[in-house]
Amino acid sequence: MEKRVYFDHAATTPTHPEVVEAMMPYFTQSFGNPSSIYEIAQINKKAIDSAREQVAKLIHADPMEIYFTSGATEADNWAIKGIAESYKKKGNHIITTTTEHHAVLHTCEYLEKQGYEVTYLPVDEYGVVHIEDLKAAIKDTTILITIMMANNEIGTVQSVGEIGALAREKGILFHTDAVQAVGQIPVDVKDMHIDLLSISGHKLNGPKGIGALYVKKGVRLKAFIHGGAQERRRRGGTENVPGIVGLGKAMEIAGSHMEAKAKSLIALRDKLIDGIKEKVPYCKLNGHPEQRLPNNVNYSFEFIEGESLLIMLDMKGISASSGSACTSGSLDPSHVLLGIGLPHEIAHGSLRITLGMHSSEEDVDYLLEVLPSIVQRLRDMSPLYEDFVKKQG
Ligand SMILES: *Cc1c(COP(=O)(O)O)cnc(C)c1O
Repeated sequence: MEKRVYFDHAATTPTHPEVVEAMMPYFTQSFGNPSSIYEIAQINKKAIDSAREQVAKLIHADPMEIYFTSGATEADNWAIKGIAESYKKKGNHIITTTTEHHAVLHTCEYLEKQGYEVTYLPVDEYGVVHIEDLKAAIKDTTILITIMMANNEIGTVQSVGEIGALAREKGILFHTDAVQAVGQIPVDVKDMHIDLLSISGHKLNGPKGIGALYVKKGVRLKAFIHGGAQERRRRGGTENVPGIVGLGKAMEIAGSHMEAKAKSLIALRDKLIDGIKEKVPYCKLNGHPEQRLPNNVNYSFEFIEGESLLIMLDMKGISASSGSACTSGSLDPSHVLLGIGLPHEIAHGSLRITLGMHSSEEDVDYLLEVLPSIVQRLRDMSPLYEDFVKKQG
């Protein structure tokens, strides 16, 4: 078989074999509806309870503060729309940033149409939100601050604890989309003063279509999906038992030896960061040099198109991602890369490499071997590069 190297773990991850194994019985013998009274249903109820404990443990929450959802998109929607509705008597102002995931940004834009006011804080060239900017944006009417823990494109990790402390001091609720952070870096909802936090199964070697929202005890949050009495009447619908069990197992696995796993990812990440800088001229690392996820590398290459680069890498068996919003079929560069101040033409030539559980030094060496000549081939076809070379004399 042709060589395949998967470098797109920020998009999704392979399901861990132990996760699949843990899920299997809940498709077959133990298929009962957890709301029923007979024995197999009760087994399922217990399985959900222990998954709730596994999820809570990794983020230092109480199991009763965990609500299962269909994924992080639902968790983000629920947190933001739910707080907006439940606290509208207190105010109508929400603070977020320009570089959030679309699950947060599009939800905020929707709320603006409903009469809410949203402040989109800028970030600096590394993707970091400045606490002074946040302080200055707070008003008497501010009910919610929603800022992601780690960025899915450029890997920048925010100082969430500092943001949480400020929110707590001002009596404002704080939600964080922690999809990319959970399982990679330590997350403690108590230490970090977090009131709501979103998690996705498939970003941490769990299954797709399952996620969770942590809601701190005492936070008023209206139900978002109306139906049965599941999830303590806050989220109707028959529980996705295999998915819930899979998420629990994935969280447990992610939490074991997390520091050691992060360390080996950081070694591979830094080899890529240094290797690309050394081998490819006219490139720029996007995101923060230190405050960065262990698995994220994001570079812009001048004079090339990210899409063409991805196609050429794919022909070499490498799956990666670019900074163009290819998912929407549009050719606009990513809002995150524009948010850190990159001009359109530089943002277009971006490559995101995200490592995961199977990534090896061999994979890294292979990318470092093929990337420089691919970039050079694309540049050789670029009129902009030709002009540039002429000017250099
Ligand atoms: C993937 C992702 C989401 C969406 O998660 P789903 O479970 O796929 O809905 C939200 N936020 C971030 C930062 C993500 O990376």
